[in-house]
Amino acid sequence: MFDWLIVGAGFAGSVLAERLATQRGDKVLVIDRREHIAGNAYDHLDEAGVLIHRYGPHIFHTNSEAVFNHLSKFTAWRPYEHRVLAEVISPTTGQLVQVPIPINLDTINTLYGLSLTEAEVEGWMEARAEKVDQIRTSEDVVVGKVGRELYEMFFRGYTRKQWALDPSELDKSVTARVPTRTNTDDRYFTDKFQAMPRDGYTAMFARMLDQPGITVRTGMDFAEARKRFSFRRVIWTGPVDEYFGFRYGKLPYRSLKFRHETLDREWALPTGTVNHPAEETPFTRVSEYKWITGQKHPKTSVTYEFPSAEGDPYYPIPRPENAALYKKYEALADAEQDTWFVGRLATYRYYNMDQVVGQALSTFERIQKVVPPASAN
Ligand code: FAD
Ligand code: UDP
Repeated sequence: MFDWLIVGAGFAGSVLAERLATQRGDKVLVIDRREHIAGNAYDHLDEAGVLIHRYGPHIFHTNSEAVFNHLSKFTAWRPYEHRVLAEVISPTTGQLVQVPIPINLDTINTLYGLSLTEAEVEGWMEARAEKVDQIRTSEDVVVGKVGRELYEMFFRGYTRKQWALDPSELDKSVTARVPTRTNTDDRYFTDKFQAMPRDGYTAMFARMLDQPGITVRTGMDFAEARKRFSFRRVIWTGPVDEYFGFRYGKLPYRSLKFRHETLDREWALPTGTVNHPAEETPFTRVSEYKWITGQKHPKTSVTYEFPSAEGDPYYPIPRPENAALYKKYEALADAEQDTWFVGRLATYRYYNMDQVVGQALSTFERIQKVVPPASAN
């Protein structure tokens, strides 16, 4: 008899498993229907021996010291600040160029052949920005800041590919993830902590889960675990609609197909990721792992991301009708006895890894208040 069945060995499930086992002495069974731990953060050596991320590049960044300190119990870190270029057609030369995204001072000066200063570019952007009364959608956020030309160049095509929706149909929070800058800061993220687990994510998860009281079964789904094991409580980190048998209909999730390639040369890209916003290009971005992991290797591996309707659910789709449908599932989840819903799929939130860790740690605090530890029985 397990005290907990944890469905999903990603960040949500693994962080909670470790807390429950080590802080309460509970007996925990962690299952995942995939053949491995670490959820979407899973990394492994490919055939050439290059460390790659099976589900696309995962770059760790957070402003939360608590989250960073917590994960630091299970890994050392390699400092890494991600930089991204976008491949677009220059409106002045008609040539393909690679320029910094988030749009910054250098992006504007390069594209338009200008030499504006930080103060001047602010006025330049304001003159192009459209007046938007209420910023509601992912289109509003960008045209309200830099105007339609840059919006179309960098955001419209990329977003239409990634989500199969026009930015005007998506919540503002989606493109608001990518800021606009008037300085020359070309980092993708500005968080206080930016680092990669030194030995990779999977190694970090293995250490987290290697605790007395934790049993891990990969290649096993919830239906099978239910038949084979008994348990008192459940932590569910899969899609919330799946748990309830799609009672109110399917919650939309967006998927991706990954094309992993190893090249017989040392480097492939000028930076960790190159975005391809043009709508005619079927992929959205290509990433080269050695930039991100710091690995030295005579070959190099890259991953192309092709957005797709079919496949594993990777992205909840932030728009009002989906939020309304999720609310109905959330009400069922709140009423479900002895079951906690945690993580990106279970709470239908477009969360980064650190936010999921934070959510798992606060769920643990809630559990502490209402569930006596097994050792108290
Ligand atoms: P998951 O990692 O999805 O884990 C859930 C697990 O549950 C899965 O392994 C699944 O197999 C399992 N499961 C589901 N249903 C069942 C069932 N019925 N039975 C058994 N097992 C089940 N975040 C960042 O911070 N930085 C990044 O750079 C970044 N890049 C990303 C790139 C891509 C392409 C994607 C898709 C996501 C990225 N993220 C990034 C987000 C990050 O992947 C998530 O925030 C995080 O992995 C979510 O963890 P989770 O535990 O909620 O879910
Ligand atoms: N986006 C875009 N062009 C870019 C980068 C991002 O249009 O060059 C938009 C797009 O809608 C994307 C969203 O901003 O889905 C968030 O980008 P982010 O890089 O955070 O996406 P993730 O890494 O989560 O896939």
